[in-house]
Amino acid sequence: MSVRAGETGAAAYRRRAASLFPGGVNSPVRAYGAVGGEPPIIVEGKGAVVRDVDGREYLDYVGAFGPLILGHAHPAVVAAVRREAEAGGPFGATTPAEIELGAAIRAAMPSLERLRFVSSGTEAAMSALRVARAATRRDLVVKFEGGYHGHADGLLARAGSGLATLSLPASAGVAAVVAAQTLLARYNDLASVAAAFERHPGKIAAVIVEPVAANMGVVAPEAGFLDGLRELTARHGALLVFDEVITGFRVARGGAQARYHVAPDLTVLGKIVGGGMPVGAYGGRAELLDLVAPAGPVYQAGTLSGHPVAMAAGLATLGELGAELYARLEHLGAALETGLLEAAATAGRRVSIGRVGSLLTVFFRAAAPRDFDEVQEADADAFARFHRAMRDAGILLPPSPQEAWFLSAAHGMEDVARTVEAARTAFRA
Ligand SMILES: *Cc1c(COP(=O)(O)O)cnc(C)c1O
Repeated sequence: MSVRAGETGAAAYRRRAASLFPGGVNSPVRAYGAVGGEPPIIVEGKGAVVRDVDGREYLDYVGAFGPLILGHAHPAVVAAVRREAEAGGPFGATTPAEIELGAAIRAAMPSLERLRFVSSGTEAAMSALRVARAATRRDLVVKFEGGYHGHADGLLARAGSGLATLSLPASAGVAAVVAAQTLLARYNDLASVAAAFERHPGKIAAVIVEPVAANMGVVAPEAGFLDGLRELTARHGALLVFDEVITGFRVARGGAQARYHVAPDLTVLGKIVGGGMPVGAYGGRAELLDLVAPAGPVYQAGTLSGHPVAMAAGLATLGELGAELYARLEHLGAALETGLLEAAATAGRRVSIGRVGSLLTVFFRAAAPRDFDEVQEADADAFARFHRAMRDAGILLPPSPQEAWFLSAAHGMEDVARTVEAARTAFRA
């Protein structure tokens, strides 16, 4: 590597990254546009701590944006990956690893009578909606403002003349006719979903929702919201799709569907089920999944789907996730929430916290937001200052006010205490 005079290791890497990758990154959420400063170049992680190329250590709340519920380099995951890599796959054939992981997922989430592995959450959401359209012979899909379901064309949609109307592309390069197959509704607002069904009778194939919204910051479903979606979709002959890419094995072993006792028709998974490897999955009632090739007419395929190394990482991860761990994560999350609120109050800063279990967001807004409009009222500049001050104190938060912080099994009460101490100063920034 060529290092210029005066450049640290990180600066040299960032310069090379900037010339290789758009914006210097391979996924936009890794950039630091929203918070300022330069993104770290990370070389190593162990437990709850990551180390950058300059040797600086951080307590990590990014958690790779969700998968690492056990923290970095958990010994069971590392051993499973090593074992499976040495076995010489993939083989372009079924292996025991995918059967074991599939069975473990079904045991935890019985609504997935059958499932299919893919290589990302994006693929899983896109494929689930393909199945929903095939099953209902309808084209329109309802999603919620602020919900994220990967970057498939039809899911990059924004409101046109209003909610419940046909959407416009939210990204350049998305065909208007494709975006127009998506309708937008407001999270925690059943009336906005009912309005979509009234406006487009007999045309809506599915409602897709993050049962706990975690991509606009953490916004919990209000009592009755998920039940209401279940009832509305059933009444109108549409399918209910839970995107549990973040919440699956996170808010409970059985995901949000277990935590809130609402069974969707189809479920989208990713992140934790891959144990840090590229994995997605979609599943649901057998008669729906049996529409997928080669059992049925919906085409969906993947050269590396069910990759044995990734399956092994997922299986090793799921093997560690018991009731005790979820109770501990809940306890840690509650302690972090209480500590941060107290630190903010002492600093005279009005913040609120959205939290479900080990998922948490600090909103620089007096009341916790219920939907995306309210999320956007939060003070983004205050968050940016807070983020920089926390980073200076050795605590790495996701570089956006609209992302979840992820606690892991590797975090402890002393980490929470350290974070709250750092926040006392950072809230004054
Ligand atoms: C991360 C995420 C996705 C996309 O998953 P990728 O593996 O990044 O493609 C989809 N839905 C939700 C809820 C996510 O958080």
